[in-house]
Amino acid sequence: MIIKGIAVSAGIALGQAKVLKVLDNKLDYHLLPLSQIKDEQARLDQAITKLASQIRLSGQHLDPHSEHYQLIEADLILLEDEELVSELHEAIAKQQFSAALAVERTFAKHAQAMREINTSYLSSRAQDVLSLSQRLINLLLTGECVEFSHLHDHAIVIAKDITPAEFASLPLDKIKGLVLQTGGITSHTAILARSAAIPTLMSCPCDLNRLLDGTKVGLNALTGELFIEPTEDQVAELTSARQRIEAQKSLLAQFKDKATQTADGHRITLLANVGSLSEINLLNEVGAEGVGLFRTEFMFMNGQPLPDEEQQYQIYSDAVQLLDGKVLTIRTLDLGADKDLPELGMTKEENPALGVRGVRYTLTHLALFSAQLRAILRAANHGHIRLMFPMVNQVEDLEAVLAQIELCKQALNEEEQGYGELELGIVVETPAAVLNLPSMLPLLNFISIGTNDLTQYAMAADRTNPYFIDKYPVLSPAIIKLLAQSIRCAQEHKIPVSICGELGSNPLATALLVGLGVDELSVNINAPLEIKQALSHWQYEDCVTLANQALAVTRIDELNALLRRCSS
Ligand code: PEP
Ligand code: MG
Repeated sequence: MIIKGIAVSAGIALGQAKVLKVLDNKLDYHLLPLSQIKDEQARLDQAITKLASQIRLSGQHLDPHSEHYQLIEADLILLEDEELVSELHEAIAKQQFSAALAVERTFAKHAQAMREINTSYLSSRAQDVLSLSQRLINLLLTGECVEFSHLHDHAIVIAKDITPAEFASLPLDKIKGLVLQTGGITSHTAILARSAAIPTLMSCPCDLNRLLDGTKVGLNALTGELFIEPTEDQVAELTSARQRIEAQKSLLAQFKDKATQTADGHRITLLANVGSLSEINLLNEVGAEGVGLFRTEFMFMNGQPLPDEEQQYQIYSDAVQLLDGKVLTIRTLDLGADKDLPELGMTKEENPALGVRGVRYTLTHLALFSAQLRAILRAANHGHIRLMFPMVNQVEDLEAVLAQIELCKQALNEEEQGYGELELGIVVETPAAVLNLPSMLPLLNFISIGTNDLTQYAMAADRTNPYFIDKYPVLSPAIIKLLAQSIRCAQEHKIPVSICGELGSNPLATALLVGLGVDELSVNINAPLEIKQALSHWQYEDCVTLANQALAVTRIDELNALLRRCSS
């Protein structure tokens, strides 16, 4: 059987399905009949024993000194804590709660108490307590644990949805492919999947309740096809498609150490978007000249305790050191919209993409913001850092952010802590930001255009909603005009312009962007070689002509046809 989805991270995968079932079964709030109390307590004990032994198993191969091992130990101590277990038994006996409800209420109470103590260690442990509670509840409701430690090495994970935070905690070395029922091409989960080079389909309507774990599946994340129990012919086809991709990759390798330039030598800077130190480690290998966007919120989403100022200082200093003089562009936390962090207790909003996200969030959570700013300022003492801010629409937003930086500098001065000067920029990602550039540019050293959100906000089209993928793509006349206007305005102020949205990673758009006048592209970590190759075929003058032609086009299909025609 073949099911069509949308390919959001290219590649081919063959493997076995690992189905993450949707927990539709809600908690049962009915009073438990008195006659069932003993059985329910026994069921709880069995679930605890089963979960504890699975957790133990997952820690077996870890170094006992590693942080991960210590987290596992902490989970076990909590799970087997006699006082906690008797509290759970009491909730079942006295309040006649089901075991799952007892777990939810009791663990939530403990997590809240930890949060109130208000140390960064305990508040991050609070989140661990909640995750543990969720695993125990899953087990009580479905009889199954979502347990990745003994995943088959060729697992293709199939689920309704996976949040960026959940994605970041998957054992990526074992996962060969990902299929989700929901999601859009510039959703953050899609971006993470592309950076991890995991072939991924989204918007794929497969029936999770009928698909069994271990079923043989194939994934063509070029054509957007999921094959359930593929035939021999289909397997052969997938295998040869994979060989073709490998051959293309080895052709691209010649561009690794080459400059990013047109055939006649017009050069731009090519940087990469990263979310972790391990990705920074890959830069040389992928042919990027530095980091154009460090999405720092991804460090908060990897299932590890939230990093405090000291830990962040370590991370940013390590990044400076690893890059050894190459560009490092850090973006302050961009939480909100599809990047929810349950451990921060973020308020649920009706329209989170239009809500308190980016600097709107950090400016109302100043302890979190200043911990990050202080860590970055201190790390800048060891090397040059560019810092940029997400969701700045208006000069007042920018002034508020700059005022926080000044306050942090004053405090660091008083504490006699060293810090370095930063280059400052904003992510231009709303139409308002484009229109307000003239008032903001005098306060800035650079700008970076976030085409993912710029498209979402200009088109009023949720970037995670698959319905809009073809209707309102980023390669459309309105977005090209917004780009041209931003670039022109920045050039008038002699401020360099980068593009850090996913449009920069699309080789079809490279000549157009260069023709529009960008100085720099910051692309998905797997894209630099393709982008270098795409630009190497062009003369600069032809890029400019293409940009002018593109600006005259009024239809999405014509624009795409023009780019395809010119790049073939
Ligand atoms: C963007 O919006 O284009 C961008 C680069 O930021 P993010 O995708 O993280 O929202
Ligand atoms: Mg954005």
